[in-house]
Amino acid sequence: MPLLLKTESPKTENSAPTAQKARHLYIHIPFCLQICPYCSFYKDLAGPGKADPLVEAVVREAERFGRGIAPRTIFIGGGTPTALSVSQLERLFAGLREQMDFTRVEEFTIEMNPATVTKRKAELLRRAGVNRVSMGVQSWDPDLLKLLGRVHDAEQVRRSFAILRRAGFDNLNLDLIYGIPGQTLAQWEESIRQTAALRPEHISAYCLTYEEDTEFFERQARGEFAEDRDSDAGFFERGVALLGAAGYGQYEISNYAQAGRQCHHNLAYWEGADYLGLGPSAWSTVGERRWQNVPDTAAYVRAIQAGVRPVRDEEILPAATREAEKIAFGLRMNAGIDPARLAERRDLVAGLRAEGLLEDHGPRVRLTDRGRLLADEIASELI
Ligand code: SF4
Repeated sequence: MPLLLKTESPKTENSAPTAQKARHLYIHIPFCLQICPYCSFYKDLAGPGKADPLVEAVVREAERFGRGIAPRTIFIGGGTPTALSVSQLERLFAGLREQMDFTRVEEFTIEMNPATVTKRKAELLRRAGVNRVSMGVQSWDPDLLKLLGRVHDAEQVRRSFAILRRAGFDNLNLDLIYGIPGQTLAQWEESIRQTAALRPEHISAYCLTYEEDTEFFERQARGEFAEDRDSDAGFFERGVALLGAAGYGQYEISNYAQAGRQCHHNLAYWEGADYLGLGPSAWSTVGERRWQNVPDTAAYVRAIQAGVRPVRDEEILPAATREAEKIAFGLRMNAGIDPARLAERRDLVAGLRAEGLLEDHGPRVRLTDRGRLLADEIASELI
């Protein structure tokens, strides 16, 4: 277990670690137009007077803890970052550029809800250097979209996708969800078909999970919804087959891309690179230190305004923990890992091979298709 230095109150600025080594930057903008009942990310309903102080606080956090860093990848997630107005986005980008060196940025992603895409925003993002957009589609079925509490419909996805293309984005991701209560295999196949027909460069397909503190979790606890792992496995296998046939190679359990269009920001996480996170609830890992900002917009803004680090938890990570994480994430990727990393788990590895869950992939080892269905269980046994 990592040494956890739990702090009930934000830490003083004196103890701030240097983040200059981080080459990957994450910024969390928590606002959403509506709260989806399955979502476990830290989010906050967009409302008057909330966004300006948050944007200023993120810029000030960048000034104090991110000054001079030269990120290769930037990912602005949430929440719904584009719930910010054009002028708020302009202020955010200008503030970040004043503090950081953006000349080495290779991939700059922002998440968008289809309901927040406008021509003006898309053009602003392009001017600001954003070169990749990730849009949460989730499903193309109107009833499932309603159940998921989404504010967009299928037609809006098509319109928003066209706006982004016209603005010059040539690297787009669309997110899908399977295992939605009541979803049929035919609905899932249709969602994949409609998504692939747009020809985005990247598609993510996540299995719905019932996370604590969500409305779906409570409905599951009341017996209204039931998790069905066999059915989820069927959705997963169909997704791999259909997306593969449509030209999207699976490179991680939930991620598929056209050749050369994998998400470099996420690959960096999975490979164990250092990253700096700004904004409420954002995690950072730099060297042996990992910390999380307070998942509370008002508390985050107050801490920054008071000149205090907005950090809730901070851990010192033993090298063995980081190595174990790299193994766990590495096994989720189709490229696999160097077998030498599993040298101390020979018996377990032999057992997994015998069960058809682990296979050689050139000089590396990786999970088989069947093994990927049990990735979390296998990773926890191996580490
Ligand atoms: S799924 Fe996305 S849009 Fe919905 S509440 Fe969560 S962060 Fe907001």
